[in-house]
Amino acid sequence: MPELPEVETVRRRLEPVLVGRRFDRVEILDPRLTRPEDPVEVAAELVGERVEAVDRRGKYVVVRFESGRALLIHLRMTGSLLHVAGNGRPEADPHRRAVVRLDDGSDVIYRDVRRFGTWLLAEPGEAQPYLDARLGREPLAQAFTVKRLGEALAGRRAPIKATILDQRRLAGVGNIYADEALWRARIHPQRPAGDLDEDELRALHRGIRAALRAGISRQGATLRDYRTPDGGPGGMQHEFKVYGREGEPCERCGRPIEKTRAAGRGTWFCPRCQPSPDIAHK
Ligand SMILES: [Zn+2]
Repeated sequence: MPELPEVETVRRRLEPVLVGRRFDRVEILDPRLTRPEDPVEVAAELVGERVEAVDRRGKYVVVRFESGRALLIHLRMTGSLLHVAGNGRPEADPHRRAVVRLDDGSDVIYRDVRRFGTWLLAEPGEAQPYLDARLGREPLAQAFTVKRLGEALAGRRAPIKATILDQRRLAGVGNIYADEALWRARIHPQRPAGDLDEDELRALHRGIRAALRAGISRQGATLRDYRTPDGGPGGMQHEFKVYGREGEPCERCGRPIEKTRAAGRGTWFCPRCQPSPDIAHK
């Protein structure tokens, strides 16, 4: 599923083509996208809105309009946003869920195979409280310091992996980048989150940011459905340190990467670089 680097890639690609443009025609083809709101009503409300900014918060794309309203798009498992020039008819696509025609004649197409994605139209003043109630700190924000990470983890007995996956603590980190960050920080995914010492917190802070930045610089990871808005794949899947690499050598120490389960998710780690909680603190 798209995580912070994938969503940020989408945001960066859409920003230059959306800002200043007006939504001229909006078709929402799947009622699940806007549930419980009526898709026809939401589509009608969106017509005429002019885009002021395209932001990101956690895994949400936030399209802000000059009216003060905002469209909050969450891609969930398999959602993607494509921008296509409006010459000619787009190819038939059974997974197309919405189409926005912009006032320059180009289209933004939302496609989603599994149909878990959501579009929420927020009235002026609603977007911020909605997002803040669901999301913790932005790991790439300047204000996200080692101290802030420590505060988010303090006192937690839950495993570190589950804790950094919790969107209310840290926004935007998902299964892939959690594993990548923990490998970079040399921390076992099952360590209790509140047990990390000062050095480990610093390493984790650095690891989270480095893993996310690597993902952004490769325009995200395409395992199955994720596409950038021009339809191409990301490149990060070729550069994973541990994710999906069971049995392959750790690039730091050569030991084969192992797979386990943590936080209910497939989890990859190096058994030498990331010693298990029983022996990490002797
Ligand atoms: Zn290793």
